[in-house]
Order: sequence, then C-alpha cells, then structure tokens
Amino acid sequence: MRFRPEKLVIEEAVAETSLVQRVLAVLPHTPVIWVGRVKETKGPRDEQVLEIVKFRGRFIKPCPGTRSYICCGYQILNLGIKCSLGCTYCILQSYFPSPNLRLFANLEDMWQQLRDHLGSFRNRVHRFGTGEFTDSLLLDPLTHLSADLVPFFAGEANAILELKTKTTQVESLETLNHRGHTVVAWSLNPDGVIASEEAAATSLDDRLEAARRCQEWGYRIAFHFDPLLVHPNWQQNYTEVVSRLFSTVDPRGIAWISLGTLRFMPALKPIIQQRHPESTILHEEFVPGLDGKMRYFRDLRVEMYRHLNELLKKGCEDLCIYLCMESEDVWTEALGFTPEERGGLCAILDRQALP
Ligand code: SF4
Repeated sequence: MRFRPEKLVIEEAVAETSLVQRVLAVLPHTPVIWVGRVKETKGPRDEQVLEIVKFRGRFIKPCPGTRSYICCGYQILNLGIKCSLGCTYCILQSYFPSPNLRLFANLEDMWQQLRDHLGSFRNRVHRFGTGEFTDSLLLDPLTHLSADLVPFFAGEANAILELKTKTTQVESLETLNHRGHTVVAWSLNPDGVIASEEAAATSLDDRLEAARRCQEWGYRIAFHFDPLLVHPNWQQNYTEVVSRLFSTVDPRGIAWISLGTLRFMPALKPIIQQRHPESTILHEEFVPGLDGKMRYFRDLRVEMYRHLNELLKKGCEDLCIYLCMESEDVWTEALGFTPEERGGLCAILDRQALP
C-alpha cells in the first residue's frame, strides 16, 4: 500500500526546496535522476517513478464540477498529480496522460497563493481539498506535508482543509494542532468492489479504523460513497458498508457524506478496457448526461441514492448528505429537497465546514 518509488526524477530548479530535501532524507538509497525539465510521457507505468517538479500553474483552482449539475463549490489545493492506487474507474487516467506520480516542490509559491487567496476573500468560508488530482495522504510519509498544512488551516478562522484518501496513512495527524479545521475523508465501497476495482487501496475495515482513530484525535471525518457502483447484490452490500460505518465511528463527528454514482467522459472507456480488462464496471448501460459524461439511467441513480440516504438517515437523522453532480430533480426524488430550498449546496456545506 505504501508508495516507495524505485526512482526519483527531480528538476534541478527545485533541488534546494524543503520538499525535495525531506523526500531525499526519507529515501536516501533511491536512485535520483536530475533533469532540467521533466518530459511529458504517455502510457502505462513500467516502474515506480516519482517526479518532483516546479509547478508553473495556479496551485488553487475552483473544483471543475461539471456544467449543468449542482456543484459543491470547493477549492482544489493542487499539490501534485496522479496516484499509484490504480482504481479501475479513476478519472485521472484520462485527465493526465503522463503515467507517473508528480509532486510540486515550489511550495513557497503555493503558500503565497494560499495567503493571497484567503486575504482577498476574508469574509467567505473557504473549503479546500487536496484530493482531487491525487490521493491526499498517499505521499504524506515521504513529504510530511500534512504537518505544515494542518496547523496552517488551524490558524485560519474561515477555512478548512479536507484530506481525502483511500489509505490509512494517518499517523502524522495524531499530534498536530488542527483546532477542528481539518476534515479527514475516505471514500467507501463494499469489500467485493474494493477487491475488484480498487485493488491497491486499503480494505473497508482498515479505512473505517483509520477514521475511528482520527475521531479519537479530535478530527471531524467525512465519507464519500463515490463512485457508487452497480453490481450483483449492491443493495445488501451497501447496507453492510453503512452498518459497519456506524458500528466503527461516531456519526455525530461526521462533517458530511457525499453520494455519487459512476460517471465518466467517453474518453475514459477505452482506457479502462485496455488497462483493466477484468473490470466489470462498464458492463452496465449508460446514457450521456448534459455535461457529456456517461451515467447510469436516471431511475437507477435515484434508486441508489434513496437506498443510501435512507440507510444513513436511519443511523443518524442529522447527517449532512449531499449528491455530487446531480440535477435538482434528482435531488428532490432521492433526498426529498433541493439545495436551493436550503440556500444552495455551497451554503449548506459552508455551514457544516467550520468547527
Ligand atoms: S485513490 Fe482516487 S486518485 Fe487514486 S487511483 Fe483511486 S480514484 Fe484515482
């Protein structure tokens, strides 16, 4: 599960940065290739390579969401791209043609952009996440970035950080001063789905146990049932996941739970077929949505959301449950209300965000 690169490819421009120094200290025997600029390559990985580069773009971006559907409005704090966990459905396979994990080392630029952003919108609630283009904690044992980020957000009255992961690499969070401004989140699926579609990620029990430990350390936690996948006995299997969730963590400490059924741009389909021929996720019927993404039929999506919503509400009436990238009418049928009736999805999550 732990990512141990067999080779580091590092741009000379970031040789002296603290991030590169930390990675080299953790991996003193790993071969390093120093380059002027990392080349863009395509195709599957043939070895465990970690690239460390100077990022020349914006570290903060609004979550791309998807046009025509209701978006949660959070900000991506972009610290690197790609992931070694190899989920069959991972959208990053088509987003980024380069096969290798890549870290951005010019963190001074990141801190500056973050301070500028927060300073320009002082009166707003800011929800940041680092888990959009990579797994938030996958490389933490090499970078120790959470030890910088968590205390930073602890000092920002109007901001929170969401760390989204499918790992159990939470050790470094134990002693950090978070003051409730970091939410640690896991995506959940039944054991069978994890075995077939998320094979390199951790088991359901391990994810829930890591969440329990984070609660013990005072963190609020979150869960993402995303992607919800149709498979034989999906109703019973998701019922079992929810039951194990409630028997492991205290629902009163859950900041939010999102639900989202499988969706993908058509360009991802041939990639899944080629890289994961054993995967069964494409065996269902799909229709193109208003944003061009392929989705299950609407009735099936509503059925899945209703099922999960009822189970979750039965366990804890007060849970904040939202749908990821769905329309108002699906919200109404599945959850019984539209975000608009409660001030909009951004406002709902903003109210939940601050401790
Ligand atoms: S854990 Fe997330 S980022 Fe990593 S492969 Fe799976 S879906 Fe992609």
